[in-house]
Amino acid sequence: MYSQDFLAVVDDPPVAGAAGAPEACWTLLIVDDDEDVHHATEFALADLRVIGRPLEFLHAFTADEAIRILEGRRDVAVVLLDVVMEGEDAGLKAVECIRNELRLSALRIILRTGQPGYAPELEAIANFDINDYKTKTELTRGKLFTTVTAAIRSYEQIRRLEASRSGLELIIAGVSGFNAEQGLEVFASAVIAQLATLLGVPADGIFCLRSERDQAGAGGGTVGQPAVLAAAGRFLLTANKPLTALPDPKVVEVIESCLREGRSQHNGHSLALYFSGRQGGDFAVYVESTAALPDIENHLLDVFCSNVAICSENVALVERLRTAAYVDDLTRLPNRVAQIEEIDRLGKVSRSPDRVLGLIDIDEFSETIDAFGYLFGDRQLQAVAARLRAALPADVHLARVGGDIFGVYGSRDVVNPASLRSILVEPFENEAGPHTISFSIGFASGAEADDRGAELQRNAAIALKRAKLSGPGNDAYYTAEVGMLTRQRVHLLHDLRAALDNDQLFVVYQPQFDLASGTICGIEALVRWRSGTGEAVPLDQFIPVAEQSGLIVDLGAWVLRVALAAQRELADHGHPLRMAVNVSPIQFRHHEFLRMVRAAVADAAIDARLLELEITESVALFGWAQTVERMRAIKALGASIAIDDFGTGFSSLSYLARLPTDCVKIDRSFVAALGNLHSGTPIAELVIQLGRQLGMRVLAEGVENPLQLQTLRSLGCHEGQGMVFAPPMAQDELLRWLRGREP
Ligand code: C2E
Ligand code: MG
Ligand code: MG
Repeated sequence: MYSQDFLAVVDDPPVAGAAGAPEACWTLLIVDDDEDVHHATEFALADLRVIGRPLEFLHAFTADEAIRILEGRRDVAVVLLDVVMEGEDAGLKAVECIRNELRLSALRIILRTGQPGYAPELEAIANFDINDYKTKTELTRGKLFTTVTAAIRSYEQIRRLEASRSGLELIIAGVSGFNAEQGLEVFASAVIAQLATLLGVPADGIFCLRSERDQAGAGGGTVGQPAVLAAAGRFLLTANKPLTALPDPKVVEVIESCLREGRSQHNGHSLALYFSGRQGGDFAVYVESTAALPDIENHLLDVFCSNVAICSENVALVERLRTAAYVDDLTRLPNRVAQIEEIDRLGKVSRSPDRVLGLIDIDEFSETIDAFGYLFGDRQLQAVAARLRAALPADVHLARVGGDIFGVYGSRDVVNPASLRSILVEPFENEAGPHTISFSIGFASGAEADDRGAELQRNAAIALKRAKLSGPGNDAYYTAEVGMLTRQRVHLLHDLRAALDNDQLFVVYQPQFDLASGTICGIEALVRWRSGTGEAVPLDQFIPVAEQSGLIVDLGAWVLRVALAAQRELADHGHPLRMAVNVSPIQFRHHEFLRMVRAAVADAAIDARLLELEITESVALFGWAQTVERMRAIKALGASIAIDDFGTGFSSLSYLARLPTDCVKIDRSFVAALGNLHSGTPIAELVIQLGRQLGMRVLAEGVENPLQLQTLRSLGCHEGQGMVFAPPMAQDELLRWLRGREP
């Protein structure tokens, strides 16, 4: 039927295919009701290669059959279509269907007809984008070659344009539709899918991250070592592994060199695109195909890369924010927010009155940090976290809910004092060797909080506070009564703050006497609070609340200023007396303390040598070196230091010798015990001896009667303060009292 001229078709050199991979080819659909036409066409085109690829043939004998084939195969490049088959215009109807229903716009159509007289309307040719219209006799082998070649080339061009357009659309849709909340891994999978779609190949690919910092959880890649964030197709199993774990060294090399050189690599069957991330590290996405990958226009890949880069930054950022929002950086445990959400979630799933929240607090943690540094503190927290995680069953939720506080939420069988303490009792190892850590624990049962996370945390925190009030190493359970007491304390604190602002606080002054001469040698300033209702609030109620809340820092500063102003006035009235002011350990430790004292002294324009600061032994919990250093700094200002309530704290007498103090105050409980003849050598006597040996002044507090006074005098005590001399008095009262004593 066709003349066999051997027109050489000069074409682009073939692209080398991967060994063993089926070669990519152009698919040609021959639609004709004449079987001979099928054979002849296939025979004529058997040797043809277009843009390096051979042809593959599909056959249909009716228009319907052609449509069915095209429905399943969207990669057909050219249809050679007989016009007249089951009907006169069966071919044209097929064309209409191909364009309007199947919407195969890139597909090239070559109409053929056996009847030279029959030609479709020109309009139809234009409307349906028909490539060529030839009578069968016109189509010699040579003509068929050129017609088909031209059709395939134009198919490829259209397809690329479409790919570019749809690629751009995809990228834009992908970027705008992408939800950064989904996380880096979901995003990475989407990028592989997008790139594969863009290239028109199945999604066989890898998305890698080479991070600058350790990405725990992202495949365990260490610094600079790429980890596979997501993988698809034949690489699926490599997801979340280090890149080097890939079985195919060639793929590893391509991706590594892409990341190393910071540029995209394209070689026939694989494409590795590089994106630089500003914060999280560099990314590479790798896609490969058994068939040669089409050349995608560079500008399109650039658009793709820059969009992915921007997106991945956002995603990485959101991911980091989310991690920061729910995970504690130091211990990698969930944080307080995460624990609250988990308790809420479990509460919704099932109510269990048996679930308990325990808050475990490391005792004296801030003192530990002060003494040994933050690094030591961090290690301690990590060690405790690791111990708890290893020992607690998996269904117990463990979190770090605060600086040195761990939250343990689970069944009462595990979350109870005995089992938690059995986990924590063994010493912890550190560089210095094993050391035990003391813990306070507060418990709250889910039943009291209706399994609501935030409330449960609050209740357990109240119980913990309660436990800590009984000293280190204690436990407490939340009860309604405890809750009420705590609320009272909170109210008290609230009122105290208001009192400080509203002048409900005032200072009274108690004289101190030289026992040998009987003359006044100093005054102690003591704060008082008369509440709005006119009642005096006892100091032992509000001082601890002020200390726990930190309000003592402001309160103490206020007392110092008032006391120094009073001292100034007394001096102006001819009574330049030493003023003793109480300093809480919390206040003493405060970083602004020295500056505050210096400013108060300067503002009152008093002689700093007339100021004595009373501190208790417990300041040394601050850390020995820091305590001594701060005491020296106070002395350098000119002020003197008295150790208040000596003997009631934890320290030994030898301790006193090592502190740079001027005065030691014997607590009134030891003074009261002086009258008891059966209690062996009175402590007051020991303190007086020691103080004298150390060259310190010794002052006895709470001296109530002449017998105590007499005994103290005979023991060699230097000074005294108490009801036997004078009660604490308001400033004007004190001034009158002083005047009354003048000769
Ligand atoms: P403190 O520093 O040991 O004060 C001496 C306490 O003994 C005062 O109690 C004083 O009123 C009381 N007192 C005086 N003479 C006698 C007596 O003959 N017999 C008895 N039984 N007691 C006597 P106050 O004023 O209730 O103060 C209690 C504690 O509150 C003080 O003990 C001090 O630790 C603390 N405090 C008072 N004012 C301040 C302050 O401005 N700042 C700080 N941080 N603590 C303060
Ligand atoms: Mg005192
Ligand atoms: Mg005292």
